[in-house]
Amino acid sequence: MPSSTSASDLTQAPWERPVTALPGIGPALAERLARLEIQTVGDLLFHLPSRYEDRTCIVPIRGLRVGQSALVEGEILAQATVGRARPSLLVELADDSGLLRLRFFHFNAALRRKFFVGARMSVYGELRLGPQGPEMVHPEYRCAGEASLRETTLTPVYPTTEGLGMNALRRTVRAALALALPGLAEYLPEALRPSGLTLAAALRLLHGPPPGADLAPARAVLAFEELVTHHAHLLTLRHAQGRSLGRKCRVPGRLLTQFLETLPFTPTKAQTTVIGEIRRDLEGGRPMRRVLQGDVGSGKTLVAAAAALLVIEAGYQVAVMAPTELLARQHMETLGHWLRPLGIEPLGLMRLGAGAEAQRAKALDRETRLVVGTQAMFQEAVGFLRLGLVVIDEQHRFGVQERQALTAKGRAGAHRAHLLAMSATPIPRTLAQSAYADLDLSILDERPPGRAPVTTVALAENRREEVVARMRAACLGGAKAYWVCPLIEEGEQDLKAAAALHAELAEALAGVRIGLIHGRMKAADKDRAMEDFARGPVQVLVATTVIEVGVDVPAASLLVIENAERLGLAQLHQLRGRIGRGGLPGHCVLLYKPPLGDMARERIACLRETDDGFLIARRDLELRGAGEVFGVRQTGLPGFRVADFMRDEAMLPAVARAAATLVRGDSAPLLGLRRRWLRERHELGSA
Ligand code: ADP
Ligand code: MG
Repeated sequence: MPSSTSASDLTQAPWERPVTALPGIGPALAERLARLEIQTVGDLLFHLPSRYEDRTCIVPIRGLRVGQSALVEGEILAQATVGRARPSLLVELADDSGLLRLRFFHFNAALRRKFFVGARMSVYGELRLGPQGPEMVHPEYRCAGEASLRETTLTPVYPTTEGLGMNALRRTVRAALALALPGLAEYLPEALRPSGLTLAAALRLLHGPPPGADLAPARAVLAFEELVTHHAHLLTLRHAQGRSLGRKCRVPGRLLTQFLETLPFTPTKAQTTVIGEIRRDLEGGRPMRRVLQGDVGSGKTLVAAAAALLVIEAGYQVAVMAPTELLARQHMETLGHWLRPLGIEPLGLMRLGAGAEAQRAKALDRETRLVVGTQAMFQEAVGFLRLGLVVIDEQHRFGVQERQALTAKGRAGAHRAHLLAMSATPIPRTLAQSAYADLDLSILDERPPGRAPVTTVALAENRREEVVARMRAACLGGAKAYWVCPLIEEGEQDLKAAAALHAELAEALAGVRIGLIHGRMKAADKDRAMEDFARGPVQVLVATTVIEVGVDVPAASLLVIENAERLGLAQLHQLRGRIGRGGLPGHCVLLYKPPLGDMARERIACLRETDDGFLIARRDLELRGAGEVFGVRQTGLPGFRVADFMRDEAMLPAVARAAATLVRGDSAPLLGLRRRWLRERHELGSA
């Protein structure tokens, strides 16, 4: 670690040193930089400007436009203090083309002396409309004999944090560049680089480009190196795992056959194909590392059950993990229902509260074949006797580290458990191959037949009453409906909103049983609410986004989403996936608060056009930019600093090739790259 003080500090390359190695950076500044996730000199190099200011040319005063920021130079014509309640210092600056008013609210006698009439002044600021016409308020300035503000290159504007001024940050980055650019290691052999530009040249350009410079190639140099690093890192993990032994599950498949025979439906072709892929993995001697991508409702649970049966038949234990307790309990229900006839009773391992000890003991029991739970089952030292397979549902909710930690639990001597990670956030194949370079990819590209279509309409909020009336009619006809409340976080405010909505609907739909479910409820209450809705008398379930992923109530056919304009495309798609699961035609109503912004309009249009999760995911990426879609949690990759899966999609094949070459070669460049780009400096092969 760069911040440690050991003999290795002396041999550290400049970019690996802590920021305090730079002149003028003490603990206070270092602490503020740490808030920007900047700890080393290298972190400063890769802290790129979000935009630039142009101080390279002087703009004539007459040419200034309100809202525009510009560099102006002139001579002070007059100076005055105005206003009594809130005095301000006015300075009039003139050039050959006109007059510009400058306003300072914070001033003192020294400043008044500095701005003497006749002094030359150079200012940079934004022209705004003030009480007496256009003016600049508190521009940056140089006055009378100080060097001009004029620069030869564009001025970087960096993302910053409270208490860290832009000028201080600029100085710090400049110091970092001066220290670390000379001799900055090029880890990628020239043959693998996307262009002739070196990393140092690219960085120099990005931190201070000449006006009009094309920055795309420089950005590409950085993005490429970052993507290669991540890809190569995942490949290394994969190779490390590939060398270990898996639990060989070569079985006749009696349990699977029996299961499929009792199932009331036949698996889709896609399900059969994927089960085949998994079976081949399980039969080999290596641990399976597979990610299953399937749109909402494509039937991933059945695939998980099939995999579990193959492993159980071979005499090993299976652990199924879900991101929420609600989902874990639903899996208990479904898997219990399916597998009980085969003599397999799932054991639930949720929160480690009362009775946890006993449950843990049971997990150790030879008789326990299948354990279903949340992360809790892995957080503590839950011992599995013969763990053969870990299934992670909705795996995009977990990060790469969690994935590694989970599979590490399945280690016994040289043997490792198989891993099946399932995701309902489908991403395009090229991206998936990069994002999951440590895993093999399976795709469920088909939904079970007989699904009635879901119609989607968007209505302005003021038509709510109509929606309530329609819901009433539908409920009298026996329908079941979700009414989803606008939820960003499960805070007090939101819960109040959900409770108020519940009361409102209870009144408007007198005679219809209305349930309520939200994230803050006790697990047992959630279970009851779900159960009453799924199989009991409750017809309308007022819900927060706790039901977003995985919840499967085939009888539900109506869905109302309030404040739909606030939710992202993928999230709306997931929510909509809660209906249209049985044979009943589904209706989804997106209520929105007008006026709709362009983005919200696009999202709604997209949802109305298609219900293909792959298409929707791509559109989502285009609309939001991959940065947001691929947070740490989404891909299970550490967040990118520069790269962007969507924008950089075209380079992914070259990235994959370069990563493969790199992994085959000497390990030194790879280690350097990992130290440079991966924030979490995890140990190689710890998985
Ligand atoms: P997801 O992929 O979203 O996790 P689920 O596994 O919850 O989907 O399956 C959705 C619904 O489809 C469930 O009710 C499940 O029982 C049903 N289902 C799964 N496979 C089939 C199939 N081959 N034919 C008919 N229904 C199926
Ligand atoms: Mg599911």
